[in-house]
Amino acid sequence: MTMTESVVNFNIPPYVGTEMDYVREAAEINHKICGDGPFSRKCHAWMEERFNAEKVLLTTSGTAALEMAAVLCDLKPGDEVILPSFTFSSTATAFQAMGATLVFVDVRPDTMNIDEAKIEAAVTERTRVIVPVHYAGVACEMDAIIKIARRHNLIVVEDAAQAVMSTYKGRACGTIGTFGCYSFHETKNYSMGEGGAIVINDPTYIERAEIIREKGTNRQRFFRGQVDKYTWVDRGSSYLQSDLNAAYLWAQLEQADKINEDRLATWAAYYEGLSPLAKSGLIELPAVPPECVHNAHMFYLKCTDLAERSELIAHLRARNIQSVFHYIPLHSSPAGKMFGRFHGEDEFTTRESERLVRLPMYYGLSPEDVRRVICEVRAFYDAR
Ligand SMILES: *Cc1c(COP(=O)(O)O)cnc(C)c1O
Repeated sequence: MTMTESVVNFNIPPYVGTEMDYVREAAEINHKICGDGPFSRKCHAWMEERFNAEKVLLTTSGTAALEMAAVLCDLKPGDEVILPSFTFSSTATAFQAMGATLVFVDVRPDTMNIDEAKIEAAVTERTRVIVPVHYAGVACEMDAIIKIARRHNLIVVEDAAQAVMSTYKGRACGTIGTFGCYSFHETKNYSMGEGGAIVINDPTYIERAEIIREKGTNRQRFFRGQVDKYTWVDRGSSYLQSDLNAAYLWAQLEQADKINEDRLATWAAYYEGLSPLAKSGLIELPAVPPECVHNAHMFYLKCTDLAERSELIAHLRARNIQSVFHYIPLHSSPAGKMFGRFHGEDEFTTRESERLVRLPMYYGLSPEDVRRVICEVRAFYDAR
């Protein structure tokens, strides 16, 4: 390493260059900066068409989209929600806020997604919802999950925060369950700083979703001329996103394929460059089941154990390369213990989460930097 080598960041928020033009347009031409203005409508229409979705509504965050879904599920205290423990806190907080009990189910070691084969054993009389999280943008085994949900009359809420542009058997992630939740946080593939969207796949929920999103009022019906004044009719909050943020996101949706291809190229380069280490059994690489097309949200590898992972992260940090581990399983967190329980044996969640390390991945990461990261990971293992 030379002293002049720059830092390889773990993430740099996506930026395509037209974002500020559209933000200006919202402010100076449209004079519309609150929610559901022209840019929000463009984003909604684009996602509905591209993902073949019944209804998509921008929200202030992926967390807000999950919260809206939890309200739409009409959960009551004591109702149970099944989710993986290996996920972000928002997957849990949205449902916990409704008084639901969280039932954590183990993940599959190959994809780090909820193990569909372990879900049904966790279903009880009180179970109302299953929340599959498409980790790293690789879809969960949705056919199996939907079958279980049908058998027990459960709602499926897809946490597709990481899976915008990913598909399962040709269908867009987020459009397969009753609801899907996207995130446009700066760490995600497409961003507006903070933001998200809820996908409503069962049309019977659309009107209520619009009400809940607009402070519990029937304002949307008023705008459509279906009622002559609007009023408070249901529970709700302010979940709609500003059109300024929507303008920013619109710039990136227009170039969604370009962003996606760039990330996939980075992912493929990592995979190829690190395959010799995987073949030697030194590391494990992520699996993408044949029915899944992913969006390169993340590139991770798995070390032998926690100690080796710490050394690898330190090795890379000393060479100006940022790499990071991921979730502390929710069932072992203070709040997770208070609000939930792990069903069955924690065979893989803790063990696999301790081995996982994420490498730099963002739109515009240069092939030279990717090569540098690969070389340093290989050097680390060569020296052992
Ligand atoms: C990012 C993320 C969220 C939350 O999205 P925000 O937009 O940050 O609120 C929820 N679930 C998962 C799995 C995520 O990765």
